[in-house]
Amino acid sequence: MTADDRMWSHINPNVPTIARVYDYWLGGKDNFAVDRELAERFVQADPMAVVGVRSNRAFLRRAVRFLAGDAGIRQFLDIGTGIPTANNTHEVAQSIDPACRVVYVDNDPMVLAHARALLTSVTGPTDYVDADARDTATILAGAADTLDFGRPVAVMLVGLLHCIPDADDPYRVVADLMAAVPPGSYLAISHPASDIHAGAMAEGAAMMNKALPVPVTFRPYERVVPFFDGLELLEPGVVPTTQWRPDPGADTTPLPGWVGVARKAAAPASPAAA
Ligand code: SAM
Repeated sequence: MTADDRMWSHINPNVPTIARVYDYWLGGKDNFAVDRELAERFVQADPMAVVGVRSNRAFLRRAVRFLAGDAGIRQFLDIGTGIPTANNTHEVAQSIDPACRVVYVDNDPMVLAHARALLTSVTGPTDYVDADARDTATILAGAADTLDFGRPVAVMLVGLLHCIPDADDPYRVVADLMAAVPPGSYLAISHPASDIHAGAMAEGAAMMNKALPVPVTFRPYERVVPFFDGLELLEPGVVPTTQWRPDPGADTTPLPGWVGVARKAAAPASPAAA
């Protein structure tokens, strides 16, 4: 058995995964009948689901464009990569500066398979770490081959944290990652909302949690804001996906996702000894 055969053997076509459901919603072809069936049932509960995931991708593009542009960030740690689609983080960042360094992290074997193929064609410094987001030590050790943790890093947790249940302390995951990056680093988060289109989102979550091996937890505004604790939230704060620095003329009707971008400030100078 080759390494590729072993990798594909971890992909179970009979159990849906969030990566493949999301791929289907984005119009991708890397999904199975079980994924499509779950995705379609979710759309029946929330007819705006497809618009919502496209709006999430548009946020990712705007956030990376801001980070590599105005914020001058040259290193990205993108956890919960997803199956490659249009405007992947390395494409947006390296279109601004080909020297941008990007490390992707995901725990889905389908994403790993595609990342291997994708990485053979990238031109800028880009790598992939096959790890669970909860295992921050493995992520940071793997990412250190490509990223210099002495220089600012943008930590991207876009459409990921709802895959980490409260029992696994997603706030600790974010805090560990942000503790490992220096002042001047950034955190970008998008998170499905439980308090926008609340009824449809509750129905959709219940449906997903009957089918997916790992449950999803959609969270309200007041449970998303604390992910940014200790950081300086940039304007306009934590807002619906469509309302974070929208492109001119874009539809800003709220969709059920909360997003925000924050900066890690320099530690306050310790008081001079008396
Ligand atoms: N970030 C992309 C985006 O927003 O377009 C993809 C989001 S997709 C909804 C969530 C991704 O997170 C999937 O690829 C899934 O495999 C990955 N994921 C979920 N739980 C994870 C975990 N515990 N560790 C690493 N990746 C995880």
